[in-house]
Amino acid sequence: MPDDAVTMDKIVSLCKRRGIIFPASEIYGGIANTYDYGHYGVLLKRNVVDAWWQAMIGDRDDIVALDSAIIQHPRTWEASGHLAGFTDPLVDCRTCGQRFRADHLDAEHDVRCPRKPSVLPGQGPDCNLTEAREFNLMFETTIGPVQEAGSTVYLRPETAQGIFLDFKTVLGFARRKPPFGIAQVGKSFRNEITPGNFIFRTLEFEQMEMEYFVPPDDAHRWYLHWLQARMDWYERLGIRADHLRLRAHEQDELSHYSSATSDVEYLYPIGWQELEGIANRGNFDLTQHAEHSGEKLEYFDQQSGERYVPHVIEPAAGVGRATLALLCDAYDEDDLGGEARTVLKLHPQMAPVKVAVLPLVRKDGQPELAHEVRNLLRRRMQTEYDEGGSIGRRYRRQDEIGTPWCVTIDHQSLEDRTVTVRDRDTLTQDRVAIDTLPDVLAGKLEAPWTSPKLAA
Ligand code: ATP
Repeated sequence: MPDDAVTMDKIVSLCKRRGIIFPASEIYGGIANTYDYGHYGVLLKRNVVDAWWQAMIGDRDDIVALDSAIIQHPRTWEASGHLAGFTDPLVDCRTCGQRFRADHLDAEHDVRCPRKPSVLPGQGPDCNLTEAREFNLMFETTIGPVQEAGSTVYLRPETAQGIFLDFKTVLGFARRKPPFGIAQVGKSFRNEITPGNFIFRTLEFEQMEMEYFVPPDDAHRWYLHWLQARMDWYERLGIRADHLRLRAHEQDELSHYSSATSDVEYLYPIGWQELEGIANRGNFDLTQHAEHSGEKLEYFDQQSGERYVPHVIEPAAGVGRATLALLCDAYDEDDLGGEARTVLKLHPQMAPVKVAVLPLVRKDGQPELAHEVRNLLRRRMQTEYDEGGSIGRRYRRQDEIGTPWCVTIDHQSLEDRTVTVRDRDTLTQDRVAIDTLPDVLAGKLEAPWTSPKLAA
């Protein structure tokens, strides 16, 4: 278990208090495992997604972007195996009406019967569980006004299949040859049975998936490459290395088509859990869709005359799980001169707001100068202006959302056009000339960074 101040309850409560992430449909009492992202949550999540795109298409030339439809032809899911096999075993309790995953009834998962005494489902005197039956996780809906055979479609349970369906089209216009990848970010939907741990497991969630198509003989080499590249990416976001690990799947955990799969795991307050899966999927998907559609999904190398179905390495990550890992890794509590402070020690590049501009008082021309400073900075980075409340309270507000720098305008600023820059982590306050401020802060934003929680 983690050794720092963070617990899931504290994260949930901070997120709610600051409008980062909160339960959806709250005025109707909420809806299972579904959350909305408020202003700071949107900014944080956008930073995660931007960092992923940067790693996939900004830093490399061999990957192209795609945005495929959420509702695809229903035969997609027949071919992919989701219709037949994307299931969880489900049991109902006839006494309390609760539904549980049959494979999560052990002490390790610690799912509890809602009635007293608090025991594992099936172990209470009144528990009366049904036999397990397989429950498909795909959400079904219909196209058109009438529910008739053939109109049933599914909300995608993963973004990956859209990439396979478009393989031939993309190959045609992308002017790429294996090894090359197709990357996509978008919502996926799963009718998950298990009650989630905040945004760790939700019914709808965003995925960041990339299918990397390679010559069959090179697949293992590229699998190893992506394991390392994805671990490095999480560390670049500022997540502490000792809270990240790679876990290779045991033989009996592997899908029948996968020769190797590893999970990137993060040490959440609920223990080590999957952040991202990286799989060597072989040629399973392209072969399946070729068989079901009748289209040839292969690569023909004009120079060598070689024809083959590429193998695929898939790093598949969740935006919500990465966001939650960032929040957990950054959360800290410290003591500032006898006053407790909650602070998110986020990597500055991940912080929703980079700089807050705060006039010390709401008079004497300070707000006007503060607006001028804010306007100077806003094109370079996400800024916020705040003049409400004591300066201490305003610092605390910014600490709670992880703003790395607060720029304070005081009476001296009006005399010599300098401001103070307060650092969220070191708490130092430096005087900086307004003219140089944008470059000074941009320099800090680009500087190498390691979590101050590591030194603690
Ligand atoms: P789990 O075993 O936790 O259910 P999975 O192995 O089914 O996850 P994948 O199908 O590999 O997950 O999906 C890739 C990534 O998508 C996961 O690593 C996770 O980050 C994210 N993800 C999957 N299901 C959910 C969910 N219900 N809520 C939030 N994120 C999810």
